[in-house]
Amino acid sequence: MNIQNYINGQFHNPSSNNWIDNYNPSNGEVYGRIPNSSKDDVENAYIAAKSAFPSWSQTTLEERSRILIKISELLEANSQRFAEAESKDNGKPLSLAKAIDIPRAASNFRFFGNAITQFASESHESIGQDAINYTLKQAIGVVACISPWNLPLYLFTWKIAPAIAAGNCVVAKPSEITPVTAYLLGEICNEAGLPKGVLNIVHGLGTTTGQAIIEHPDIKAISFTGGTATGAHIAKIAAPMFKKLSLELGGKNPNIIFADCDYNDMLETTVRSSFANQGQICLCGSRIFVEASIYETFKTDFIKKVKQLKVGHPSKTSTNIGALVSKPHLEKVMQYINIAKEDNGTILYGGNKVIVKGYENGYYLEPTVIEVSTDECKVNQEEIFGPVVTIMPFNSEDDVLQMANKVKYGLSATLWTNNLKRTMRMSNQLQSGIVWVNTWMLRDLRTPFGGIKNSGIGREGGFEALRFFTEAKNVCIKY
Ligand code: NDP
Repeated sequence: MNIQNYINGQFHNPSSNNWIDNYNPSNGEVYGRIPNSSKDDVENAYIAAKSAFPSWSQTTLEERSRILIKISELLEANSQRFAEAESKDNGKPLSLAKAIDIPRAASNFRFFGNAITQFASESHESIGQDAINYTLKQAIGVVACISPWNLPLYLFTWKIAPAIAAGNCVVAKPSEITPVTAYLLGEICNEAGLPKGVLNIVHGLGTTTGQAIIEHPDIKAISFTGGTATGAHIAKIAAPMFKKLSLELGGKNPNIIFADCDYNDMLETTVRSSFANQGQICLCGSRIFVEASIYETFKTDFIKKVKQLKVGHPSKTSTNIGALVSKPHLEKVMQYINIAKEDNGTILYGGNKVIVKGYENGYYLEPTVIEVSTDECKVNQEEIFGPVVTIMPFNSEDDVLQMANKVKYGLSATLWTNNLKRTMRMSNQLQSGIVWVNTWMLRDLRTPFGGIKNSGIGREGGFEALRFFTEAKNVCIKY
């Protein structure tokens, strides 16, 4: 499958006619080509977005909302096709793409299609000064949305939907590793009647195409989700140009289990929070801390459950764990498993590549559980972003809090306890943007989403996203 850039409502080959191979992670074969877009392609996308902006930013909220909801409906109507494309491109189980990725992409458009009609601004009466102030929330202009490969359409649309709902025009780049559903989205946008130039999608490498986007002097805001090192690089380029930045970066999230939790619920959810999407979710609870009194029981029960997870071809309904996204990523995750062994970690389960019959060159790995003796070892500190978790016991609330916070990241934390006072104490003190108590990845799209420390700056979700994609202008009238 050859995919093309989507610029000004039309599909184009890259101007240089350079292409990149696209691999199918389930069998390691090249199954298509994607544009290796140059600065010229990014410029064309920018020009299209700039021309569309005056009209789109003045389009009524009802009309914008109607189009966003239409996109959502069309995604739902085409969900099977999109789910198959996502699963093939990323290696994730088709069942997961069907249940999570594509429905969520549709929800993103529906949610922001509705939210924009409720996005109000404040007014302040300056009593005694005969003046009234009101705040305009104006669209910024042309903005950039750059997303990673782990939840391709889910995260791509999580940025695009609020950006266009707020009246901006967008130059967007999906990860070059998983470009297909972003390509298909162009067709849907045309069918839904999104005016040409409002959304422009350029494909290519981060270091060239992405770089041209972030360096563009007239793209005034960048919403980025990806690795922490890339986020730092983008911040360095963007700062001297005073671009608005939203950075959703890596995580190394603690999953803290107290003996007084609902054990079975915790166990089921912990399997999911460890290995969903092959562990390639920034929110996965990759550091499991278990209260010492239930540590041995947990270890036995957890390993028993993990053993039941079936690694297999993503299209099979029996598959729980599909393929990792790429060969380099599989090698990177394997390296961490080796580092764990050198650091005296004990591989309690997994740690090996899996050969799936008929798909011998696919990028499959066993779900892996590593028992560590110290929270300071490398595998407990660095983001692995694969089906690998560490586990270790803790003795007291203070100890576990200290270990949970002693990483450079601060995206999410999960807490399992039925003690209300402890819940309140720990939720206040955990250094992360999100704390889940007795659940994991339960999402309400109105809530602020994002991390602290090296997990990023800014918040997505709800009105936070609409605030990011608008400039607040105060108007003061003396009467
Ligand atoms: P990367 O940082 O490598 O890439 C993210 C995106 O940025 C891709 O589209 C990439 O393009 C692009 N990119 C790379 N270099 C540049 C550049 N110089 N200028 C502009 N764009 C660039 O991350 P991954 O795709 O490997 O994703 C995994 C990471 O994402 C993990 O660290 C994970 O924790 C994080 N993540 C964070 C989430 C959050 O909400 N906090 C959610 C999901 C993931 P290309 O791939 O084509 O090179």
